[in-house]
Amino acid sequence: MRELPNKLVDRFGRSVDYVRLSVTDRCDFRCVYCMAEDMTFVPKPDVLTLEELYRVSQAFVELGVGKIRLTGGEPLIRNNILSLIEQLGQLDGLDQLVLTTNGSQLQRMAGRLHEYGVKRINISLDTLHGRKFRHLTRHGNLDQVIAGIDTAVATGFERIKINAVILKGRNEDEALDLVNFARQRAIDIAFIEEMPLGLIDEHDRALSYCSSDELREIIGRRHTLQSLGEPAGDAGPARYFSMADSPTRVGFISPHSHNFCHLCNRVRVTAEGRLLLCLGNEHSVDLRAVLRSPAYTPEILKRAIIDAIAIKPERHYFDNSGEPDIVRFMNMTGG
Ligand code: SAM
Ligand code: SF4
Repeated sequence: MRELPNKLVDRFGRSVDYVRLSVTDRCDFRCVYCMAEDMTFVPKPDVLTLEELYRVSQAFVELGVGKIRLTGGEPLIRNNILSLIEQLGQLDGLDQLVLTTNGSQLQRMAGRLHEYGVKRINISLDTLHGRKFRHLTRHGNLDQVIAGIDTAVATGFERIKINAVILKGRNEDEALDLVNFARQRAIDIAFIEEMPLGLIDEHDRALSYCSSDELREIIGRRHTLQSLGEPAGDAGPARYFSMADSPTRVGFISPHSHNFCHLCNRVRVTAEGRLLLCLGNEHSVDLRAVLRSPAYTPEILKRAIIDAIAIKPERHYFDNSGEPDIVRFMNMTGG
């Protein structure tokens, strides 16, 4: 029997030590860049159970993964998600249990997330205007999300970061206000270029494209941004900048204009257990089939993961044509 490695390394020499785990494809919002208004979700029996999610996490951690981000859909609306988080918080070898959320449930959950070992949270917020917020999220309530952010700030997480997707003509005029919102709370903020994932008809992605360089220029007119260097594996694909008069860091995630595939250290697992090797490619392996096979053992699962890493593509190619490069939606992908 071949010995199992304690590290995942792909054929381009990149170590994979970070997994983004989608715990549901469902969401209480329908953000215009992420979902269509009418979505068909994965039938519940096809979604990984909490126990299966734990088994997958454990397998990855035993293969050297030190960071797991829970995402979705909206991870905090998954039934009993706190029980999974409590279990993951006790997983030996998992140094960083982190979460990306739309913030709608944070008022009631932030305390327990912190208690169970979540250290860092990313919270999505694209606008500070109630009506625009309702429009962009289709269902969201801005006051509830801001109250959630403020509860999280008061809870004392190691790091909180706002994620803002900026669309031309919709919210690019709010870039500075969003930076100020983050500065007032001494938290970080990252601006994300919209990615061509999933077919949406609410707007034309080619026309709404707003580059990170444009935003950096707008913010740079008001604040002197000091580069913190090129992205490192740990910081993800964002390029970060500091400001001399605030602890807030401003990041730019630029899948179109700056490609950092050569530093990629991550893979994604969709809610139905598909291991995606790259955000912008379809290469994947069905881990649910392994988990639900009568022959399942933790070792077989780990071997399936090791074999999958061997097909991780070198890079993605997004274009700005407005056409979806990838038909799956972001909520399926596990943002
Ligand atoms: N529901 C949670 C949230 O909104 O934070 C977690 C899942 S969401 C898919 C994760 C991140 O992906 C969010 O920050 C969201 O703004 C971003 N996102 C969704 N669709 C996107 C797209 N087409 N391009 C760029 N970012 C996108
Ligand atoms: Fe839901 Fe997050 Fe997608 Fe918005 S971005 S629809 S909150 S999964």
